[in-house]
Amino acid sequence: MTPKIGRVFSGIRPTGHSHLGNYLGAIKNYVALQDEYECVYCIVDLHALTTVEDTLDLRQNTYEMALDLLAAGIRPEETILFVQSHVPQVTELHTILSMVTPLGKLTDLPTFKEKARQQPHNINYGLVGYPVLMAADIVLYKSDVVPVGVDQAPHIEFTREVVRSFNYRYNANVLIEPQMKNTETPKVLGIDGKEKMSKSLANQIEIAATPEATRQRVMMMVTDPQRVKRTDPGNPDICNVFSLHKIITPAGDVAMINIECRRAGIGCVDCKKLFAGNLNKALEPFRAKRGELAAKPAHVHAVLEDGAARARAIAEKTMVEVREAVQLP
Ligand code: SF4
Repeated sequence: MTPKIGRVFSGIRPTGHSHLGNYLGAIKNYVALQDEYECVYCIVDLHALTTVEDTLDLRQNTYEMALDLLAAGIRPEETILFVQSHVPQVTELHTILSMVTPLGKLTDLPTFKEKARQQPHNINYGLVGYPVLMAADIVLYKSDVVPVGVDQAPHIEFTREVVRSFNYRYNANVLIEPQMKNTETPKVLGIDGKEKMSKSLANQIEIAATPEATRQRVMMMVTDPQRVKRTDPGNPDICNVFSLHKIITPAGDVAMINIECRRAGIGCVDCKKLFAGNLNKALEPFRAKRGELAAKPAHVHAVLEDGAARARAIAEKTMVEVREAVQLP
């Protein structure tokens, strides 16, 4: 095994079946990072509680996310994969970090304002403290690096400030300021072609779906709105199907579509059929592995338990230092 250049931490929400946006935006990157970093990946069930009121599916969704990650290529023999609530030290650190966090800073964060707008009936304390819990997650495992998209950058900057406040307040050099690793993730729009792909907007294409269900979703995709008739020339530059072709489809076919669409040489129906076929082909190994894993639930739970034990060992070591710095009796 090649030596690793640092420790990466990232948390992923248990949203149930992952969609293409999750896969291209986060999961593929998680898999790739394993080659260079010691990776600590956490399924953040506690974070989910800030927005999920009905927790009936929480356990199943957490399990489904574990299946998706493992099927996509997370290697549990080297990567630590676990469920957030299985490491209770994170809630202790969250409480301690809360004491060095000004409330105004939390309520000023754009992500809090957005969430408050989205669920005005449920602006709970957890929603305000979400970035503190996220900071606790990151620093508990002494992570050097956190992969982030642009929208998450303020949270990492916030984590760095919390670390500085903690180390200053308690005159300690215990917690590490994590570095951001900007990830080049494509913005994947949903089948509506307007909004980011999201389960809550029901515009998703699930990666674990059957080939036929995938084909049906692809055929519903909105294309160039100006292209009304088959004989109208299209503009691939503003078409979401083409954006996804560029990620999934072999370069030769992408070049062909780019030319033929503009002169109405290919229709949207054929173009989408081609995309659905390529997408199903690309997802074939993932789906096969997922099927194998789903037949062995005891194995998947054992992987998560083993991951939690390894995560707890690191977490407890950090907490011994934190408690000492804070001088907890
Ligand atoms: S032919 Fe393809 S790229 Fe062109 S508008 Fe239709 S779906 Fe989009």
